[in-house]
Amino acid sequence: MGNYFTPSMRLYLEKLVDWEEILRLRDGADPDVEAEVGAFRTVLETTAALAESFERRAREQWHAEAELTEDGGARPPAHIREAYEQLREAGLVSLMVPEEYGGAALPGLLNGFYLEMISRADTSLMTVVGLQTGVAGDIDKYAEEALKQTWLPRFASGEVQGAMDLTEPKAGSDLGGITTRATEQPDGSLRVDGAKIFITNGGAEVHLVLARDADHYEDSKGTTNGLSLVLVPRHLEDGSRNGIHVTRLEKKLGIHGSPTCEVVFEDAVGWRLGQKGQGFRAMLDLMNNARLGVAAQAIGVADAAFADAHRYAAERRQFGQTIAKQPLVLIMLAKMHVNIEAARAILYHTFELVDSTLAREAALARGELSGDEAKTLREAVERDIVRVRLLTPLCKYYATEICHDVTRDAMQVFGGIGYTMDADVAKLHADSLIMTVYEGTSEIQASFALREMGKGALATVVGELRRELGAMMDDPTRAELAQLVQNAVNSIEECASLLFSDLPYALLRAKMIAEMAINVIAGTELLRQAGADASRIDLAEAFVRRRMLETDAMARRIRENQEGRMQRDERILANYAQTDG
Ligand SMILES: Cc1cc2nc3c(=O)[nH]c(=O)nc-3n(C[C@H](O)[C@H](O)[C@H](O)COP(=O)(O)OP(=O)(O)OC[C@H]3O[C@@H](n4cnc5c(N)ncnc54)[C@H](O)[C@@H]3O)c2cc1C
Repeated sequence: MGNYFTPSMRLYLEKLVDWEEILRLRDGADPDVEAEVGAFRTVLETTAALAESFERRAREQWHAEAELTEDGGARPPAHIREAYEQLREAGLVSLMVPEEYGGAALPGLLNGFYLEMISRADTSLMTVVGLQTGVAGDIDKYAEEALKQTWLPRFASGEVQGAMDLTEPKAGSDLGGITTRATEQPDGSLRVDGAKIFITNGGAEVHLVLARDADHYEDSKGTTNGLSLVLVPRHLEDGSRNGIHVTRLEKKLGIHGSPTCEVVFEDAVGWRLGQKGQGFRAMLDLMNNARLGVAAQAIGVADAAFADAHRYAAERRQFGQTIAKQPLVLIMLAKMHVNIEAARAILYHTFELVDSTLAREAALARGELSGDEAKTLREAVERDIVRVRLLTPLCKYYATEICHDVTRDAMQVFGGIGYTMDADVAKLHADSLIMTVYEGTSEIQASFALREMGKGALATVVGELRRELGAMMDDPTRAELAQLVQNAVNSIEECASLLFSDLPYALLRAKMIAEMAINVIAGTELLRQAGADASRIDLAEAFVRRRMLETDAMARRIRENQEGRMQRDERILANYAQTDG
C-alpha cells in the first residue's frame, strides 16, 4: 500500500492544500479539518489497498479483450468487471457526486489521486471509472433537476456507468464536422440519429452525445455552433431498449480491456443538457475534466513502469555490479522519477485551483458574504478560472508525453526482456501510446494552450508565478533556483509577445512555448513543495537546472524566427513527394 499512496499525494493532503479555507467556503461552516482530512486519508488508503490487489491480475490478463454483448452493448473482460464490483462495494465509484444525490462529494484532487492509483494498477479499468465521474459531473452541472434525480444516485451507487460520444469518422480533432442529428419532439425530448466511433465504454447505460440540432442543421454545418449535448440512456423508463447499439469493437495496440466502440443511434430518445446550441461549451467542461483525468491516468502508468524499472535495476547485475550503479542507467532512472514528480506537481496544483474555485463559487452562490469579501472572492474566481484554462491542456500535454518517454525508458532499463511480454513494461508502453491522442491530441493541447495565452492567461499565470518565486528569494536553499525560474519566466514573456505578432509562426512554435510554460510552472511548484518538505529540494533542483537550460535554448530558437521556415519544410516534403512519385 505504501507506494500507491505516494509521498507527493500525502504532501498535498497533509501540508500544501489549505483544506480549512476550501471546506469553510464550500460548506459555509467552520470545518473539523482533522476529521475531514482523516476521512480523505481513509478513502485513499482503501483505494491504494484495492488498486494494489488488482495489479497482478491486470498484468496477467492484459491481452483480454472487451466483448460485445447479446443485447447490443459491450463490456470489459471479466477481471475488470470484478475489480469494478469490488470498488463499487467499497463505495469507491463516482467520488464527486454531491451528497444530496447520495454521493461522497469528494474534492477533485482526491479524485485525481484515486484515478492515478487505479490507472497504475489497471489503466483500462481507469477509463471506465474515469468516464463515470466525468459524465456524472456534467449531468450535475447542466441537467434539469428531474434528470439529476433520476441519474445521479445511480452513478453514486455505481449502478450505471457513462460514455462520452463525440468522435465521428469526419469529426475527430475538429468537432465542427459532427453530423449526428438531434430532432426536437413536441414533449421536449429529442430523437438522436447518427454514428459515433472510438467511444470508450460504449456499452455504458448513459451516453452524453454531441449532436447537431436538426433545425439549424444546414446553417451550422462545419462549425461547433448549433450543437447540443444530449443525454441518451440505453434503456427507457419502462425498461425497454432505446435506439442505441454497439456495432463494432476496435482491436487496439493497448488498453485491450477498455471497450472502444462504434455506436449507432437510431431514433434514440434523449434529453438536452444545458442550452440548445451550446452543447460544445458543455462538452468542453466534460472534456477539460477528462483531460485532467487522462493526465492522472498517464502519471499512474508512468509510475507503474518506473517502479518496475527501479526494482529491476537494483537486481540485475552486469560487469560485476547492479545496473543501477551504471551512471547511464542511474541518470535515466532519476530523470524518469523527476519527470513524473514534475507532472504530478503541475496536475495537483491545477486540481488545487479547481477545488478552491468551486469552493469560492459555492460561497458566492450562498450570498452570505459582505460586499468586500464577495468582491475579493469574485476576483479570485475570475483569476483562477483563467489559470485553470491554461493549465489544463498543459497538464494533459506534459503528463501524457512523459508517460510515453518514461515507459519507453523503462523498457530500455529491462534490456532484451523489456521487449518481451515476460516483463510488464512493454504492456505499459503500449498502453501509454493512446494517451497523447485521446481527449485531444498533444498538438491540439498545445494549440489550446497557445490560444489561452493569447487571450491573456499567460499574463495572469506569470503574475502568480512572480509572486510565488518572489516569496522564495529569502530562503537560502531555494533562492538561486527560484532566480533561474524567474529568468525563464522573463524570456517566456518576451517570446510570447514575439509570437503573438505573427500567428502562423506562433502555431509553428505552439509546442515550444507550451513546454516553456510547463517548465516554469512545474519548476515553481516543485520549489513550493521543497518549502514544505526540505527532502524534496533535490527533485526541484534536478528539474530546474535541466529544464531552465532547455527553456533558454527554446527561447533562442523562437527569437531566431527564421524567415521562410515553413516554406523550407514545404520544399523538403515537395522534394520527397517528387522522388517518391
Ligand atoms: C482508444 C481510443 C479511445 C477513444 N475514446 C473516445 C471517447 O470515449 N469518446 C470520443 O468521442 N472519442 C474517443 N476517441 C477519439 C479520439 O478522441 C480521437 O481519435 C482524437 O481526438 C483525434 O482525432 P482523430 O483520430 O480524428 O485524428 P485527427 O483529428 O484526424 O488528427 C490526426 C493528426 O493530425 C493532427 N491535427 C489535427 N488537427 C490539428 C491542428 N489543428 N493542429 C495541429 N495538429 C492537428 C493531430 O494532432 C493528429 O496528430 C478515442 C480514440 C481512441 C483511439
